Amino acid sequence: MLQNSSKRELKKISIIVSMFNEEDVILLFWNTLNLVLEEIQYEREVIFVNDGSVDNSRIIINDICAKHTHVKNIHFSKNFGHEAAMLAGIDKSTGDVIICLDADLQHPPDKIFAMIKAYNDGYDIVNMVRKERHDGGLYKRLTSKVFYFMLNKISPIKFEQNASDFFMISKRVANILKSEYRERARFIRGFIQSVGFKKTTIEFTANARIGGKSKYSFFKLLILSTVAIVSFSKIPLYLGLLMGIICSVFSLIVGIYSIVMRIFGNVPPGYTTTVVLISVLFAVQFFLIGIIGVYIGYLFDENKKRPIYIIDEDDSNY
Ligand code: UDP
Ligand code: MG
Repeated sequence: MLQNSSKRELKKISIIVSMFNEEDVILLFWNTLNLVLEEIQYEREVIFVNDGSVDNSRIIINDICAKHTHVKNIHFSKNFGHEAAMLAGIDKSTGDVIICLDADLQHPPDKIFAMIKAYNDGYDIVNMVRKERHDGGLYKRLTSKVFYFMLNKISPIKFEQNASDFFMISKRVANILKSEYRERARFIRGFIQSVGFKKTTIEFTANARIGGKSKYSFFKLLILSTVAIVSFSKIPLYLGLLMGIICSVFSLIVGIYSIVMRIFGNVPPGYTTTVVLISVLFAVQFFLIGIIGVYIGYLFDENKKRPIYIIDEDDSNY
């Protein structure tokens, strides 16, 4: 798994494209990609992952595959989602550099040159960041901003704003994704940003889709955002502790106030006991929920089985 970054040599690149009902765009995408690949001197493979399309995508990519030996196809039995499709492509990849991009040409294939250059300059990860987007308008821009703002506030890892599923990883990062990070709920963009290594960002303009419709419904995006937050932050689990602290302070104030009122004021019988009991019990309950949250957080970490450490270089002499 170890690969010394200073000694690595680029022989082969892998391009991974996941598709869900993309019959309208595949051929145009393929032709555009080929214009780029023709100018690259490295050995290459293109892996099409058909994520359970129910249109003619399967036939079209089978046809491309039959004509080109460097094209590989994976057909899922049903729609498993973009994240699963990217991971399947990464699992099958054999290149020194692995590039994921969308089939709708929103991720311009000519950026592949810059990504390869970054690899040759010693980078293991290239996060492609949207500079401008002509897709989805204000709504997508705004939701993406809010999402990354929130995620960065509550996660110990700092995520690149406007990062996308357009990225390059080196073979050693791909090997980590192949053997570790095998979680059921995945946020690959997040995994890539959290493994360390030398990384850089390259900006790109996300154009409008060349055809077909977006496959990411509001609901799918909501699920992906939830997965990202849950798998990179334990803060929501600790809300119980926070509420416990707030309630304790509140119960102390209410308690003192009620006792003072009981002594000096005219309060109905049982009032003080009721108020003090309710506020103290709420504080205790929230604390207990918070403590359970802490344990669940650790259980969750154990369950995810993320690597305890990742070695960049090991210079020991055996
Ligand atoms: N995609 C996929 N499975 C899905 C949803 C999308 O493989 O369940 C693919 C889709 O075919 C495209 C890429 O993921 O190649 C990005 O999807 P889309 O363009 O619909 O998302 P958007 O750009 O609108 O966020
Ligand atoms: Mg798109």
